[in-house]
Amino acid sequence: MSSPVPHVDPATKQKLEEWMRLKLPNFSSYHCPLCGMASGWIAGPLVAMPANQGGAVNFGTLVPVLPLTCSNCAYVLSLNAALVGLVPANPTGTP
Ligand SMILES: [Zn+2]
Repeated sequence: MSSPVPHVDPATKQKLEEWMRLKLPNFSSYHCPLCGMASGWIAGPLVAMPANQGGAVNFGTLVPVLPLTCSNCAYVLSLNAALVGLVPANPTGTP
């Protein structure tokens, strides 16, 4: 399996690949936890999930997420796009 197939712009793809080389150097041999295949991952598009704060969903606080989807079974794992460096750490301007 190679690096994730990007459904993101070239700049985001480059940042993702640099981050993965640093943080997940063995990702190319990572098998999907659901189907067990190493058939490839599809990166993106970037999404935002509402945060849960104090037991309630707060739609004013969004967590930027980069989904990686298994190309065999559609299992989705997610990376915090801010921690990967793909978006500003606090895009919504909220704490
Ligand atoms: Zn899978």
